[in-house]
Amino acid sequence: MRVVACPQCGAETPWEGNSYRPFCSERCRLIDLGAWLDEKYAIPAPLDDESADDEAGTAMDAARGGRNGRHDG
Ligand SMILES: [Zn+2]
Repeated sequence: MRVVACPQCGAETPWEGNSYRPFCSERCRLIDLGAWLDEKYAIPAPLDDESADDEAGTAMDAARGGRNGRHDG
């Protein structure tokens, strides 16, 4: 079985089947994430401000003209 050292606390943790990898636990993962967010990483805001409002109307249409919930017979 493959084992890696948790980057946060250094504990050996299995790689396979570990949803928190490369960390040993959710705690260590959150700690690392928090540390990362706390750091002064300048993340430039994405420039695409366009949102697809068209989809709302399409969804409404589909809901109206969709199934009727009637039984045959
Ligand atoms: Zn850990």
